Amino acid sequence: MSIRTEKSKEPPNRLPASPRRGVVQDLIPLRSRRSGPEGDAGPDPSAGGKIIMKFGGSSVADAGCMREVAALVTAALPRSPLVVLSATAGTTDSLLAAARLAEQGDRDGALLIGRELQSRHRGIAGELFPGGLPGELDQALTAMDAELDLLLRGVAMLRELSPRSLDAIASIGERLSTRILAAFMQADWVDARTVVRTDDGFGSALPLFQELSALAARDLAPLLGPGRAVVTQGFIGATAGGVTTTLGRGGSDFSAALFGAALGVADIQIWTDVEGVLTCDPRVVRAAQPIAELSFKEAGELAAFGAKVLHPATIKPAMEAGIPVTVRSTRQPNGRFTTITAQVRTGRPITALAGRGPVTLVTLTCADMHTQSGFLAMGSLFQVLSRHRIGVDLIATAEDSVSFTVEAGLPLEALLKDLEGFGAVGVARDRTIVAVVGERLKLTPGVTGRCFGALREINVEMISMGANEINLSFVVRREDATAALVALHGALIESPMREDGRSAGGLSHAERRRGTNIVQFG
Ligand code: ADP
Ligand code: ASP
Ligand code: MG
Repeated sequence: MSIRTEKSKEPPNRLPASPRRGVVQDLIPLRSRRSGPEGDAGPDPSAGGKIIMKFGGSSVADAGCMREVAALVTAALPRSPLVVLSATAGTTDSLLAAARLAEQGDRDGALLIGRELQSRHRGIAGELFPGGLPGELDQALTAMDAELDLLLRGVAMLRELSPRSLDAIASIGERLSTRILAAFMQADWVDARTVVRTDDGFGSALPLFQELSALAARDLAPLLGPGRAVVTQGFIGATAGGVTTTLGRGGSDFSAALFGAALGVADIQIWTDVEGVLTCDPRVVRAAQPIAELSFKEAGELAAFGAKVLHPATIKPAMEAGIPVTVRSTRQPNGRFTTITAQVRTGRPITALAGRGPVTLVTLTCADMHTQSGFLAMGSLFQVLSRHRIGVDLIATAEDSVSFTVEAGLPLEALLKDLEGFGAVGVARDRTIVAVVGERLKLTPGVTGRCFGALREINVEMISMGANEINLSFVVRREDATAALVALHGALIESPMREDGRSAGGLSHAERRRGTNIVQFG
């Protein structure tokens, strides 16, 4: 490993504007494309086996975790790792809480959180450097402490928290964790804001991939090489003018995919606290099992429908560049893991389940939906939704009504008022979308029958089969979501189905209730 000085903190401002702002699709340069979405995703010889290693918050929670991360990166040094780090566990939440307190005028409360964060990070650094912090790290921590202090005082004084200020405050988490790890590993530290060029959509900025790629090729690629590690931040970026942005909560996975696609690496590794992508969130279904292989489509669908293990935007850059994504556990680095590629190598009808909520279910009832005025109502519905800039997750139509789900917490009053012009409007809040995902779902007879059997005790309020036909979704009350997922997992995954739709054995109901778990997956 080499000891290097940090790079400039100012994002360079010399590249041409992107032709299509914020659109990742189609912007992946041809040189880094391999075989496209349907092709072979094997390693690219020209990439020289380079890897991205992204570690989430729980993987860098304390000094012990940092040491484990350092050991994993050291073992991977021949593969020229670019390490993409999240903030330490809970830090982003704390930073956002401090910002909110400052906005409410509670300056002291906000500064107290800031001081706690500083002492936590100094505590971690102190354990890693028992003989005293290297001067450069000490200075960096002090500078970030002063920066956070200043930002919080400013917000408290004005009692105004713009999304831009919030991003500046949130960015400190990733900058702290990466400083500590880079110093401990004596590795290069790169400010991601000098590479991850985004638009100014503060809070969930869109990356400008062409510019990001050019910056990565110019400033990042030369630092990467066998025997050395480079450490940078997930989650954060900057506009062309150098203003700090973030990619949205959980966005470090997305950063990892963007860096991977830009650099044309051989593997994007997402290191987290579970053994890969599981058949359901293990906090919800205890019997959930790791999945050995997953298609990009399935992983994208699971992430979009609530599988928190991957940020929903992660898959697209990796898929377009044809780079496999592996999801691994820092707690069990030699344990099982998931490989996500374009190819589906298993014949499983159902791959996994996910739950996303809360969402709001809106139903527009119009007595003559099938007549001309009904068609007009339908057409107007989309116009009204687009006028109010409200995105729809699921939609289903019936003889006299159309139902759709939208994210909870959106301001719906104006939309509902407009919709009332077409018919009666019903609103049901606190709902959850439960999604059944599988590449072979549409080819397998009997899936819906099994789903309905499993959900017989639960009131299903809407059903939708995604246009891509790999996702069958049910809307249920929020309080029924866990029971629905447990029942569906039992029926579809613990009692696996064959492609002809018949049961391939599996656990009896009594065995499942006892929590035994002997089914093989993948
Ligand atoms: P990190 O901090 O490493 O980014 P996250 O907390 O964002 O980790 O994501 C990991 C968590 O995602 C797991 O602890 C698990 O509870 C949750 N999760 C939800 N759905 C799934 C799934 N299908 N497979 C694995 N984990 C899942
Ligand atoms: N630290 C950020 C968050 O907590 C990004 C991430 O962890 O992926 O949302
Ligand atoms: Mg995450």
